Amino acid sequence: MTHKFGIAIHGGAGTILRSSLTPEREKLYKDALHTALTAGYSVLTAGGSSLDAVETAIRSLEDCPLFNAGRGAVFNSAGKHEMDASIMFGKNLGAGAVGLINNVKNPIALARKIMENTSHVFVCGEGAEEYAKAFGLEMADDAYFYDEFRYQQWQQSHIAGGAFLDHNLQSANASDEKKFGTVGAVALDKDGNLAAGTSTGGMTNKNPGRLGDSAVIGAGTYANNNTCAISCTGHGELFIRAVVGHDVSALIEYKNLSLAEACHEVVMKKLVQIEGEGGLIAIDKHGNIELPFNSEGMYRAMKSSDGREVVAIYK
Ligand code: ASP
Repeated sequence: MTHKFGIAIHGGAGTILRSSLTPEREKLYKDALHTALTAGYSVLTAGGSSLDAVETAIRSLEDCPLFNAGRGAVFNSAGKHEMDASIMFGKNLGAGAVGLINNVKNPIALARKIMENTSHVFVCGEGAEEYAKAFGLEMADDAYFYDEFRYQQWQQSHIAGGAFLDHNLQSANASDEKKFGTVGAVALDKDGNLAAGTSTGGMTNKNPGRLGDSAVIGAGTYANNNTCAISCTGHGELFIRAVVGHDVSALIEYKNLSLAEACHEVVMKKLVQIEGEGGLIAIDKHGNIELPFNSEGMYRAMKSSDGREVVAIYK
């Protein structure tokens, strides 16, 4: 039996105001989201798995310097990139995650290899990079990840002190070059299998060694065929403390909430109470899709087999 199927993606959340993006730049972001969405959706249409759709969409976003993942990853306080990514398959609760990695072109591909080709779930730092080389994944030198805007952004936050959500730095920076966001994707395929993935450079000027929710299964990423698939973006420390991904799933599984109710409970109540700014994308086992956020905006897009398609940025 062919199920209803669909995909949703995000490119980060934060203080994203209409006034801060020129129409030209808004178009660039929307085009990039549309390209990733279409790539992921095509996998599903062809009968491919939700895992393949999620990886395909995220790779597209990682390769785009507009987003804070892969090529566009932000700088930490030491002026280096440390990327985090995770992926989960709802059919068997398979999961793979990598943290604090450098020079791996597509961190999401490495997270998937960890899931499918090792006995581990979570591998960080040099050990993860060694896996990437052993699996023959594409590596990239520092120059590939260097971006002048990111560098200036880091210099600013260095002076201001503290770590910042990529997308919130635009307000500190009147520059017209504004680039935001962790990326993620969730999908339901024709076989009824759910998958979720998230990839990020983390928060600008973060301390070396800091891990965010994007790498953490149950927090930034979660998928379970009994309930839903979730990918988050926002202030990682708060998303870890609220165990966001699993919490949405648990409200559906144990309290029989709908996807919309569960998302509202976690994003608009629980996170707001602890000042956890951000949002998430979610798809449930029936193909319902929710894109809630408690910040000014979230780069987001969705497409489902019932003909609905959305590409949006602001509230
Ligand atoms: N959640 C990410 C982190 O804390 C940041 C983001 O979503 O942009 O590392």
